Amino acid sequence: MRQGCISLGEVRCGDCHRIIPHSERYLVIEETEGVILRLCVDCCLKKGYAHYKEEKKEKVLTFFIE
Ligand SMILES: [Zn+2]
Repeated sequence: MRQGCISLGEVRCGDCHRIIPHSERYLVIEETEGVILRLCVDCCLKKGYAHYKEEKKEKVLTFFIE
């Protein structure tokens, strides 16, 4: 299960381990056996879990949600 969330400033990325700043979006991935992985936008883009699409000349971030 994947779910897009918005950081309240106390979230750490499970991959690059940086703190995800307040109001930045991140992705929650629930893996098997209830393991929760949180990924910052950069890591999502790197892993192909998110992409930017252009909409009315603005870049809009979209998460791939299952
Ligand atoms: Zn990261």
